Amino acid sequence: SAPTGYRGRFAPSPTGDLHFGSLLAAFGSWLLARHAGGRWLVRVEDLDPPREVAGAARRQLDALRAFGLESDEPIAWQSQRSARYEAAVERLLDDGRAFYCHCSRTDLATVSGIHRACVARRTRPDPSVRLRVEDGSVVAFDDAIRGRYKQDVAREVGDFVLRRADGFWAYQLAVVVDDADQGITDVVRGADLLDSTPRQILLQRALGLPTPRHAHLPLVLGPDGRKLSKSDAAQPVDPTDPLTTLRAAWTRLGQPADALTEARDVSDLLARARSAFDPVRIPRHDSGPHEMS
Ligand code: GLU
Repeated sequence: SAPTGYRGRFAPSPTGDLHFGSLLAAFGSWLLARHAGGRWLVRVEDLDPPREVAGAARRQLDALRAFGLESDEPIAWQSQRSARYEAAVERLLDDGRAFYCHCSRTDLATVSGIHRACVARRTRPDPSVRLRVEDGSVVAFDDAIRGRYKQDVAREVGDFVLRRADGFWAYQLAVVVDDADQGITDVVRGADLLDSTPRQILLQRALGLPTPRHAHLPLVLGPDGRKLSKSDAAQPVDPTDPLTTLRAAWTRLGQPADALTEARDVSDLLARARSAFDPVRIPRHDSGPHEMS
């Protein structure tokens, strides 16, 4: 199909091997991008060295290749983009939208963990930087899958961290700067990030950046009803058996199993998936390990 302005992405954190929930986000975002005749980018979110697992980024990218899901453009690595995050934070500080904060987690425990004003009794050598969230900052957006979502960011989240006291960049800041720099028009990811979206929209407004469209995919829940975590090494996908895994992800996305039964190999499967995919069928709700979509 003819190229359109659509630009989507998959942005894994290298905190472990690719698990089924990540593959679902990768395949779902790829299918929506292809359906729209757009481009699909991979970005490695390696901005949190303490949580990183050595070699995980490389293994995740190898697994994606085995599943036939390859970035249309050179892969972006967040660890190489500090200057961009620095520039954004400097600008917010200059504009008075962000401030230095000495509050520790312990300090904030006295106020339910929600920062509305500094409560630290002493200054520390390494303050964090927070975005000031004005009272009444209620953000609503229309998610393409989940529908309308609304959050009072001041009350439910408070002033949030852009640069941590240990000097690392916060996910919320990096994702907003990168999505803008990469010209992302459509953010498609797991529904665990639904409640981060209002923070990201506030940051986009503070930085004068456009807000992309959003589509949050259903989560695969563990047997205990909790989301499978990225560090849950128990559930890595098997890149040596890509057809089985892609078929499982396909039905989780609400798509008809029979469209892929005859697929001979990965590229044949992806071609069939592209032509049979219908975004309207993506379920709005999360489902457990044994439920079929
Ligand atoms: N790196 C984030 C994660 O793996 C996803 C970021 C995003 O898609 O916005 O949970």
